[in-house]
Amino acid sequence: MQDLTIIPASNAALPDAPMRLKHWIGGAWVDSADGATSVRFSPAHGVPVSVAAKGGQIEAEAGIAAARAAFDIGAWSRTSGKDRAILLLRVADLIDRDRAAIARQEVLESGKPITQAMAEIEGAADIWRYAAALARTLHGDSHNSLGPDMLGLVLKEPIGVVSLITPWNFPFLIISQKLPFALAAGCTAVVKPSELTPGTTVMLGKLLAEAGLPDGVVNIVLGYGEPVGAVLSSDPRVDMVSFTGSTAVGKRISAAASATLKKVSLELGGKNPQVIFPDADLDQAADAIAFGVYFNAGECCNAGSRIIVHESVAAALVEKITVLSRRVPFGDPLDPRTQVGAIISPEHLAKIDAYVRGAVAAGARLALGGAALDVGGLGAQFYQPTIVTDVRPEMEIAREEVFGPVLSVLTFRTADEAIQLANDAAYGLSAGVWSSDVSTCLDFMRRVRAGTVWTNTWMDGFAELPFGGFKQSGQGRELGRYGLEEFLEVKTVQMRIGQTRGAWVA
Ligand code: NAD
Repeated sequence: MQDLTIIPASNAALPDAPMRLKHWIGGAWVDSADGATSVRFSPAHGVPVSVAAKGGQIEAEAGIAAARAAFDIGAWSRTSGKDRAILLLRVADLIDRDRAAIARQEVLESGKPITQAMAEIEGAADIWRYAAALARTLHGDSHNSLGPDMLGLVLKEPIGVVSLITPWNFPFLIISQKLPFALAAGCTAVVKPSELTPGTTVMLGKLLAEAGLPDGVVNIVLGYGEPVGAVLSSDPRVDMVSFTGSTAVGKRISAAASATLKKVSLELGGKNPQVIFPDADLDQAADAIAFGVYFNAGECCNAGSRIIVHESVAAALVEKITVLSRRVPFGDPLDPRTQVGAIISPEHLAKIDAYVRGAVAAGARLALGGAALDVGGLGAQFYQPTIVTDVRPEMEIAREEVFGPVLSVLTFRTADEAIQLANDAAYGLSAGVWSSDVSTCLDFMRRVRAGTVWTNTWMDGFAELPFGGFKQSGQGRELGRYGLEEFLEVKTVQMRIGQTRGAWVA
């Protein structure tokens, strides 16, 4: 027996009936023209928790048409930054008001623990407030030294109609990393949440309506990647696609968008390394590593899934992580004691397990876990905390995103080797370094190819700080000022001030 900490089924009430979800198009809540729906079952509890309209080409095109018309009419795109900020702040207040209900639906559809969902919704409201502040700072440049009769202006304008396509792992947080910035910029949007977790995006739509957003400024089309996501990525009326999800789908979106040369912003996967030097505080590192790999059951683009530890401290560190791993409560996500909930789907659980089995077959060793976890009263759509040691850099488990509570441990001897291993990945989302020597941290920070670097910490985040990936982890940035700039277009204006321009024709 693995001697793990398991939280069995709690007595928290499950919904009597699933939430009914419709598309939001041009200000109206509508079913699909063909009446199609899809049912989502709670990954932890097995009961139906939402029944969503399943959109097709008709609904995707209707959403785009509504967003295009709203943008071109200017009911939002030509309002003042002040008015946009007032609305975004109202939305943030409404999110706070409904936080418990939103968090609960997020738990029921995604399997994540309730305390974590509550924190995410709170963090999302904070992002809406930050974007509201940015809405009042939009400005371009002026050029007043182009000669006595010329004034140059550089204007920032909303890019236009944006498609926002989101994944299932942080549904409400990720749409909140996109939509308030797009709205602050003056864009209109068509939103497609993951087919696995549509509920909280629809709840957000209701709050936008309550806050007084004009019809058609935001449209929500529910459904699958094919056809809805594909139409949102290729329709000529869309000016930009902002996508968060897997690298494989990101490449498809980029290809689909290329026919009309839309701007594409991509937040994709990661295989994020943490390098632990021998002078690190191993207790703190072990705790952060446990957090980095088990948070959201490892279904996290930022999962610290690849540990590169100096060989002199590897055994001691693995022992500390193993002790902590046994103490992390896995189980019923509706119980407030739970820190790790269910895996999103049986197919994904099988994929996680296949990576672990493949690693063992390739010569790696299991220090802990390595199988599905049966949680009393809930079944086995859970995965044990898993530590895989003796991992070599060429193994699949060292290179590919497992997206489960699975840690791969590699070792190094020299700092150069550590950097080389950290950079030996197709991804470049985030990276971390643990050392008590600031020079070691600075050297690592400068040489690692990743969009975010944490030194002696892991996975902190702030609305003010941009987030995004190098290499195949994406392009563009979310959050911070850069997150707003993504949704802006630049227009150059040259104004003659003098009487007449010199004649070109003699
Ligand atoms: P996914 O790529 O399977 O799906 C993401 C979204 O794309 C869903 O809404 C899906 O319906 C849609 N989609 C699927 N096929 C499409 C197509 N052909 N055209 C347009 N849209 C399509 O990803 P997922 O499984 O939902 O999420 C997990 C992935 O997301 C992981 O790889 C993870 O690393 C990544 N992720 C990245 C970040 C980040 O900020 N970098 C954050 C969270 C998740």
